[in-house]
Amino acid sequence: MMRIENVTAQYQTITGPVVSVKDVDFTIRDDEIFGIAGESGCGKSTLLKVLYDVIQFPLEIAGGRVVLDYTDATGAHRTLQSGEIKNVWWDAISYIPQAAMSVLNPVYRIDEQFFELFRRHRKGSGEKAMKDRVVQYLNELDLPVDILKSYPHQLSGGMRQRVVIAMATFLQPNMIFADEPTTALDVVVQKSILMMLMELQSRMHNTLVIVSHDMGVHYQITKRMGIMYSGSLMELGTTDEIFSNPLHPYTKMLIGALPKVGDKSTREGIPGGPPSLRNPPPGCRFAPRCKQARPECSQSVPKFVEVAPGRFAACHLLGK
Ligand code: SF4
Repeated sequence: MMRIENVTAQYQTITGPVVSVKDVDFTIRDDEIFGIAGESGCGKSTLLKVLYDVIQFPLEIAGGRVVLDYTDATGAHRTLQSGEIKNVWWDAISYIPQAAMSVLNPVYRIDEQFFELFRRHRKGSGEKAMKDRVVQYLNELDLPVDILKSYPHQLSGGMRQRVVIAMATFLQPNMIFADEPTTALDVVVQKSILMMLMELQSRMHNTLVIVSHDMGVHYQITKRMGIMYSGSLMELGTTDEIFSNPLHPYTKMLIGALPKVGDKSTREGIPGGPPSLRNPPPGCRFAPRCKQARPECSQSVPKFVEVAPGRFAACHLLGK
């Protein structure tokens, strides 16, 4: 579905380029829920911009490329690269942002926003067909049809997020990116949003990519996931493998910090914070926070290697 081939992305600043995504290389498959995890400031959002083809100054791709392979609505196979992918936004690839209010236009009712999407991407359809299809789709998603007459501010945060998900999936795209889709929602609403995303993916058999700092979200919904740290992938594998047998010290610490039902012992956090991308440490960027660091860790960058079929990690300890 999407190949990310050795991608490096950077921001131009007045003091020079700041590399935010470095040598990232992996594949996202058809019909899967893939997660991208890591603390805030690890490059997840920049990677998402690169994958979704939102490359605008000061962001630029300094190396590598992103390739999207998909079958369009006519059944034709298409291959697009960075710079071309934006031409199929909404039709083949869509985006669910973190804050629903930032995509819903506050001065238009929800129905007008659906109709606008329909008119732009399904040219030639009559008004009645358009309205019927929107109502039918809301019914399919168990969303109340009367929200169509509401303005965004009249809906709860959870309902606004459901509306945005409905709009992002309305044209049945092959691939959907969701950026922290449950942040700022209470836990009950979070659960229902995750269930909605899972149901939609299983119905459409498309690819859903969830970007979230919340490991609990990944555990509940994703099938494979990548762990990012300081702009690079540290580990990649199935979600089951990563939670049951984490290989990278950073992944181990992320999972070790999670609360567990019935366990009242104090969880150990990860000391410190991610390094500055402007002046990262030499060698392994996790070394200043890693309890298992050794002298070689600060001297050379560990390679991101396949340690078992489909399982990748970047740490000097692996294989020793
Ligand atoms: Fe820790 Fe060294 Fe592995 Fe980096 S390479 S995660 S510092 S052990």
